[in-house]
Amino acid sequence: MFIYDWKTGKSLHEDLSIQLGCYALYAARKWDVPLDRIRIIEFNLLYNKASSFAVAEEDVQNITGYMRGSMKDMQSLLIDVQNNIPLDEEHFRKVEDERVSLRCNFRKVCRGEV
Ligand code: SF4
Repeated sequence: MFIYDWKTGKSLHEDLSIQLGCYALYAARKWDVPLDRIRIIEFNLLYNKASSFAVAEEDVQNITGYMRGSMKDMQSLLIDVQNNIPLDEEHFRKVEDERVSLRCNFRKVCRGEV
């Protein structure tokens, strides 16, 4: 099975990114495809360059662990995980780096500018 990921950015991935690993994990589970029959092709349109990645069981273990950790982090900010009720606003630290906030899509809401 070949999974193509089209890229237009300037970055060329040397190794298997978490994003691509998630695609492989999904395909393996959804269509019951052995990992060694999956090839991830990252095609960068800007450089007209294709990078091919195989996916090892170890990659999938690492990505599953990363996803579980990320879910745990997000759930730690909920007062009611079942109903997805967040803790009060003061539990969410604001980013101090103004350069980051300047590019943030939620800036107006976050700063009460609406
Ligand atoms: S503006 Fe965006 S990045 Fe900055 S603190 Fe608010 S939500 Fe976070």
